[in-house]
Amino acid sequence: MDFQISARQRELMEAAQEAFARRLRPMLEDSTVEGVRKIRRAMAEQGLLGLNMPESCGGLGLPLLDTLLIIRTLQTCAPILGGLAHRTSTGAVGAIAEYGTDDQRRRFVEPLCRGELGISIAITEPEAGSAATAMKTKARIDGDSVVLNGRKQFVSFVNVNECSLVYCRFGNSGKASDIGAVIVPHDAPGFSHSRGTLNMADELLFELYFDDCRVPRSNVLLDGNAFGKLISVYNAERLGSVARMLGSAQASYEFALEYAKERRQFGRDIADFQGIQWMLADMRVKLDAAQMLVYRAAASAQQTGLPVPLETSIAKVFTAKAAKEICDDAIQICGANGYTKEYPLAHRYAEVRGGSIYGGTLQIHKNMIAAAILGRDNSQWKK
Ligand SMILES: Cc1cc2nc3c(=O)[nH]c(=O)nc-3n(C[C@H](O)[C@H](O)[C@H](O)COP(=O)(O)OP(=O)(O)OC[C@H]3O[C@@H](n4cnc5c(N)ncnc54)[C@H](O)[C@@H]3O)c2cc1C
Repeated sequence: MDFQISARQRELMEAAQEAFARRLRPMLEDSTVEGVRKIRRAMAEQGLLGLNMPESCGGLGLPLLDTLLIIRTLQTCAPILGGLAHRTSTGAVGAIAEYGTDDQRRRFVEPLCRGELGISIAITEPEAGSAATAMKTKARIDGDSVVLNGRKQFVSFVNVNECSLVYCRFGNSGKASDIGAVIVPHDAPGFSHSRGTLNMADELLFELYFDDCRVPRSNVLLDGNAFGKLISVYNAERLGSVARMLGSAQASYEFALEYAKERRQFGRDIADFQGIQWMLADMRVKLDAAQMLVYRAAASAQQTGLPVPLETSIAKVFTAKAAKEICDDAIQICGANGYTKEYPLAHRYAEVRGGSIYGGTLQIHKNMIAAAILGRDNSQWKK
């Protein structure tokens, strides 16, 4: 196992930092929907979208590890950049690249890599959070169309994205085997969404409504018996989010490190105090340990193209916890300044906090780890 970042990987990370400094940083001031779409197009021009998507679909064809290194680098620069790189590389787009038809790759993956399109992922429902397979949203084939009825909640970036990958049921058995997925454009008849609810990190989470929502049958990605398939690709999405948490933790650590060297109390730098030094040391230990677990999980994708579930869950559980603690310690080191919204740390903390909930809560990942190490069934359903 090679623990070193290669010269090529370092070049990729430096190129991302340079694109940020030269082209993207001035664009960040415009956080309107149109502003975000402009950033997305500029990122495509800089080769920062579709990082691990196949070259035949307009992607860069990078291995998962290189992809995560770039997502993490962009996240340290600005969370919105890490988010866009993630969603167009390890996000819902991955399921279309993996299981889609040539026509679906042409209509969705290619424009996603060009920054012309964004895609949300819609799994969660009011009665189906951690128990995702309890979802009720239904899809019915009707001639050349597929008709959806139901409701999703807590879906991210719906206002900025033009379509969603919607997990839904294609049968009436009530079992997980009914679950498939449909690509729903946000201008489809019968589709609407709420105005959004702000989360702790000031991002909007949306409810989606499907009221006899009709889309072409050619938008069906998988028509049942697909939950396992969808979740194996979703593990790459989980690692994309984990790379973002690492990026935010790293940015917070570096910020606090500099602050500790400059802030003076009792006639000395606060970095002179052992209480501060040990916090910084703990932050660095956690950051490096999390990084190793994320790299290991990403490297596991070299075998099958998809990351190993156990290693993904281990990386997620450790990093989500470590990132919360690192961001919290960074705020502590910066005192009242760190707690204000003038400083970037409160937002970083709020953002990584969500990582213990989305993409499977930490408790759900620990259930999966325990089932794997004990060799037991992971079903949580009441018998
Ligand atoms: C920032 C953010 C962005 C999100 N974006 C999206 C998105 O884009 N698309 C989407 O579909 N969803 C999204 N979600 C929703 C997310 O996937 C769900 O919140 C998550 O699956 C948990 O569901 P829940 O919130 O209903 O919690 P619940 O399932 O109600 O869980 C409540 C608590 O019970 C615990 N619990 C539940 N079952 C078990 C068990 N068997 N063992 C132990 N503990 C258990 C949980 O860990 C949690 O602590 C997002 C959430 C957040 C916070």
